[in-house]
Amino acid sequence: MLHPVMAAPQFSTSLTEGLRKHVVVVGAGIVGASTAWHLARKGFDVTLLDREVPAALSDGASGGNAGLLSIGHYPLTRPGVSWRGLKWMFSRTAPLYIKPRLDRELVSWLWNFHLHCNQRYLDRCMEVLCAMGWQTLEVLEHMLAEERISCDYARDGWLDVVMKPENMAHAEAEARSLEKFGYRWERLDGEALRRRDPCFTAEVAGAIHMKDSAHCAPNDLIAGLIRALPRHGVKVRFDATVRAFRQTRSGAVTAVELEGGETIPADAVVLCAGVWSDALGRLAGVRIPMQGARGYHLQFDYPANDAPPVPSTGMVLHETFVAITPMLRDGRQQLRLAGTLEIGPLGQPWMPERLGMLVKGSHPYLRGLDALQPAGEWAGYRPCTSDGMPAIGGVRGRKGLFMATGHAMMGMTLGPVTGKAMAEIVAGEKPCFDVSMLDPARFG
Ligand SMILES: Cc1cc2nc3c(=O)[nH]c(=O)nc-3n(C[C@H](O)[C@H](O)[C@H](O)COP(=O)(O)OP(=O)(O)OC[C@H]3O[C@@H](n4cnc5c(N)ncnc54)[C@H](O)[C@@H]3O)c2cc1C
Repeated sequence: MLHPVMAAPQFSTSLTEGLRKHVVVVGAGIVGASTAWHLARKGFDVTLLDREVPAALSDGASGGNAGLLSIGHYPLTRPGVSWRGLKWMFSRTAPLYIKPRLDRELVSWLWNFHLHCNQRYLDRCMEVLCAMGWQTLEVLEHMLAEERISCDYARDGWLDVVMKPENMAHAEAEARSLEKFGYRWERLDGEALRRRDPCFTAEVAGAIHMKDSAHCAPNDLIAGLIRALPRHGVKVRFDATVRAFRQTRSGAVTAVELEGGETIPADAVVLCAGVWSDALGRLAGVRIPMQGARGYHLQFDYPANDAPPVPSTGMVLHETFVAITPMLRDGRQQLRLAGTLEIGPLGQPWMPERLGMLVKGSHPYLRGLDALQPAGEWAGYRPCTSDGMPAIGGVRGRKGLFMATGHAMMGMTLGPVTGKAMAEIVAGEKPCFDVSMLDPARFG
């Protein structure tokens, strides 16, 4: 019997013959940058395109996220989440806010999402996500070391920080459910937590330390990786917006067309355009039902004198879902508060009350937040498919077209290993994890 990975249809579209094939990668976020890096290392001739200019790029989803490389993170589709989302739907300050609107695509996305919020499906997802998770930090550490990228990376786990004593059992149960996938954790009660990390207030009941994860300053990671690509022969082009694909009568993709009219021929095209992948995919006849879940961050500088204690690692606040990450950037100690999920049409004005939720949701947990100096604010989109899982592989019926997108809240964590697998798939090799559940054609 064939290994399930070998049986997957992705291989009908792989490039098996010859190495100096030209591959165009669309989207220079973490997924596209890692894909380009791995393709170049395999000997492909690679062009990486992004519509942004470099300064704006490091502000994209892959720069502005919380920087938690939290392997073993559950996908969004969990038992009960769809009902909770429905209850929160009309509150502009709920952690998950869905802007109510009559939109067939949103309704169909929500329905499919709801159908996937069950334990059996979650267990299947976790098999794949853990296989990716266990490899992704190795892949990232390899890239960081080889390219000498400095991004305050530390493999020191993350904390699930609990305010209400009655919630400790819930946090512990969640950690315990990950044991079967090999993840290590430790319970820290209030005093033990404050001894380890004096940044926490006396009101905090305790924390669960998930030990296997890491954190980083994502803007520096993505900027460093993109800077490294030309050394491997990758042509990196900014301000290059893909507006169409050239296809043969049989559907094979042979070139991309840029705004402005330029055509770039390609033996293969890999779409890594984050939340915009659905709209782009449709131009080539592929549908990935996707909603952009907008999140925000607030960045702070620590003052030079009388600075409050800096958290020793990244964390998520259990009751308010705010992610908090210490980051050393350009010699400055900073803190990033990130989070909130807001599902609505792309490109709408920011909702300032949701930025406010980050501070309000962090205050009760952390000492000295008022002493920090504002250093920036940001909003960006998580690319969320309707079944909670990424789409990774070749596109059936569209020879030469590949997709790697839809990583939702886990893109920074799983982007590095996705890039490795994607390069293997394009090269016609067996990918480093089983992608059969992630077939981009699964949505029909
Ligand atoms: C508030 C917040 C916090 C988060 N925290 C974490 C975290 O702690 N850990 C984690 O793992 N993940 C986190 N995420 C999720 C993570 O940031 C995303 O999953 C990830 O960045 C997606 O990467 P990507 O490469 O798929 O897409 P993106 O980073 O969005 O990159 C896509 C690129 O495609 C380009 N593009 C789009 N259309 C075109 C076109 N037509 N032509 C050319 N280029 C195009 C865009 O300009 C963009 O640069 C967070 C997200 C948010 C919003």
